[in-house]
Amino acid sequence: MKSYSAKASEAYQEISRIIRAFAKCIEFSNIKRSEDVIRILVDVAGYSGAFLSYRGTINHFLRYLEIENVKICDIKWENLENFWKHNCSHACWPARGLSPSQTVAVTRFYLFLQYQGIIDSNGWDSNDPDICADFLEALTQEGVHPDQAKRQARTALHLIVWLRLRGIPESCLSDHILDDFVGHSCRCGMHIRSGRPGAQAKSRRRVAVDRFLRFRNGENPVFKNGIFLQKRRRSHPSSTVVRYRTWLTDQRGLRPRTIYYYVLDVMSWLPRLGEDASAYSATAIRELAVLEFAKRTPAMQSRFIRSVRSYMRFRAFEGHCNASLANALISRPTYRLSTVPRRLDTGIVNKVIDSCDLSTSYGIRERAILTLLAELGLRASEVWKLKLSDLDWTEAKLCIEGKGGRGSIVPLTQGAGDAVLDYLEKGRPSSRSEALFLRVPHPHMPLANGSEISGIARKALARCGLEGGAHVFRHTLATELLRDGKSLEDVATILRHRSVDTTTIYAKVNEPMLKRLAEPWLGGRS
Ligand SMILES: [Zn+2]
Ligand SMILES: [Zn+2]
Repeated sequence: MKSYSAKASEAYQEISRIIRAFAKCIEFSNIKRSEDVIRILVDVAGYSGAFLSYRGTINHFLRYLEIENVKICDIKWENLENFWKHNCSHACWPARGLSPSQTVAVTRFYLFLQYQGIIDSNGWDSNDPDICADFLEALTQEGVHPDQAKRQARTALHLIVWLRLRGIPESCLSDHILDDFVGHSCRCGMHIRSGRPGAQAKSRRRVAVDRFLRFRNGENPVFKNGIFLQKRRRSHPSSTVVRYRTWLTDQRGLRPRTIYYYVLDVMSWLPRLGEDASAYSATAIRELAVLEFAKRTPAMQSRFIRSVRSYMRFRAFEGHCNASLANALISRPTYRLSTVPRRLDTGIVNKVIDSCDLSTSYGIRERAILTLLAELGLRASEVWKLKLSDLDWTEAKLCIEGKGGRGSIVPLTQGAGDAVLDYLEKGRPSSRSEALFLRVPHPHMPLANGSEISGIARKALARCGLEGGAHVFRHTLATELLRDGKSLEDVATILRHRSVDTTTIYAKVNEPMLKRLAEPWLGGRS
């Protein structure tokens, strides 16, 4: 694609002037190249480095506007729509048309101009993210699942952006317009992918938009007259439950998801026990437990015990009942360690790693990932979270953010170090991202989550006719270490298990180890 920056068209000069003026007030100077201009767009508008690669499209858009005689400050949504379908005679248009990310580039550019106040945005100011953060908080307050709340807050932002792009002020909202939003094929720049939403996506958008509008009208987003507005029946949390949730957040510092499940569980049995704490007794709690246990799975029984304890501690904290009630129930043993983990035989791991095709970037990345899994026994999520700054080459160490946010440092083995170095030199695309492992195709974003790492491991295993994912490598390492005569404590340290009990599971596949473990229990007589 030919760049028009060299020609310094009028439109380009205009935007350059605007940006220059803006840059002055944020102490950017020496803007000489179009890269600098776009870089400021990126930094200011908060979009990713991938934006830099959009400059060809934006130059084209500016050139198009110039030919159509549209001033920068007069751009309307129609101009974008017409641009996307214009029959290009500028000889700069790739025959296959615009890619989704190029389409989005134009929208984001337009949004940037709005957020900077260069284009009138019909009463929308730039506090959209704040509105949505408030909405998110309101949803969480009403006990909506954190994941759902986040998704709905994103949809609310999507709605605002959609309205903004079409120049519709909030005061003009109508059912008709909302229907259009729910069914629109997205080019709003929120996601790269476009296309018409399916039935499920539509109903999700509908629920989120309804809640958001009630929120904007100052109403409760989730309940009306104390009744849950969605199909599933749920009761309004009582004032005690609301205080309990606040206590969990402020005093216990738990994660939102944990709090959600505690509160949900308490709400399921509290009506039976009653809210008058002076009537609580160990007998009443045990009677409740008998009823609850009858209808719960073992895992849910444990959750019940935890929620009762937590709730009783809270009431004791408020001075309503005796703290000893928290211990009215004894925790039941769980048997989560009853399955033997899948593992590979010695030598197979190396075969899988050797099967990577090192002539491609995919293969080089794959080998680095597999080696980290196999030699250091990392979890898929830990590999995914690795950042460039986590690598310490002088000390040959690796900083890991493990399960539950526990950080630790592990030695970088020769094999893993070599594979990662190889990836950094030959496989990793240049990017401003801090993440160690990036997508191979453009745009070079970090991988979406730990399951992508697991997927890579699964594919590699499948290629060698084996089943399983990333954890197979971890299990294999644990078993090998035990076979080599390492103690359970050593292996627990290497695998960063919180408790040695978790490590014991690997002893099941190791008969000599099992024997040694049994001896102390049997008083050394076996
Ligand atoms: Zn054109
Ligand atoms: Zn959209």
